[in-house]
Amino acid sequence: MIVLHEISRRYQMGGETIHALRQVSVRIQRGEYVAIMGPSGSGKSTLMNVLGCLDTADGGRYELNGVDVSGMDDNQLAEVRNKEIGFVFQTFNLLPRSNALHNVELPLIYAGVTQAERKQIALEALRRVGLEDRIHHKPNEMSGGQRQRVAIARALVTKPSIILADEPTGNLDSRTGAEIMELFEELSRQGNTILVVTHEEDVARHARRILRIRDGNIASDDVVADAGRSGAALPAIGADAVASPALKALGEGR
Ligand code: ADP
Ligand code: MG
Repeated sequence: MIVLHEISRRYQMGGETIHALRQVSVRIQRGEYVAIMGPSGSGKSTLMNVLGCLDTADGGRYELNGVDVSGMDDNQLAEVRNKEIGFVFQTFNLLPRSNALHNVELPLIYAGVTQAERKQIALEALRRVGLEDRIHHKPNEMSGGQRQRVAIARALVTKPSIILADEPTGNLDSRTGAEIMELFEELSRQGNTILVVTHEEDVARHARRILRIRDGNIASDDVVADAGRSGAALPAIGADAVASPALKALGEGR
């Protein structure tokens, strides 16, 4: 459902050209749970911005659910973004004076959904993230993990086909971060496609696949071994590595 074909993105800084993405090609299927890792400056955010239709590539093709979005103008991109993408941020980005319910309803207000319907949909999303008993709490009346759950519920209400999360556990302790990654796993099992940028190996291992970015390229693309999620990542099917029968079975299982 996500197809990137030789995507490049350059920035001009003074006289210098920075190649933030160099001909990145990758496919991500519906329901996949992917971690994106890489050193600072390697192009992770640039990649997320392109995937989230916040930015366009200078070259290459980006197909989202069979639609070529590479040539779209800003209005068309905004429409795709509102319909297809849910964003989750490191700093939660909730309205501080609004309670959880209102924060989650917000995207539906923009989408023109009626008040009664909004409440139903928002309550359902808050239930899915386990916060049905915190709907009247404001952000400062909740823990970091609860705030991030509100932000995830907010990302879910428009039923996006992709959820993009840039360092969603960066402001959480490791146990809470693991809980958030487990919530993403649950959502991916329900058919949501989840892409998470993270710096931490432990966090990334909760995903089913790890893309490593280096210098604007995909340096590796690995399936995460299932056994307890503590082992090393294995090469993905279709990566340069030879796919063994065991790996193949693993790939078919996801
Ligand atoms: P990451 O998220 O992996 O830290 P980024 O995607 O933010 O990396 O950046 C990739 C490269 O592009 C870096 O060298 C960065 O300095 C450069 N870059 C990112 N955004 C801009 C911009 N708006 N203008 C100029 N250079 C940029
Ligand atoms: Mg970044």
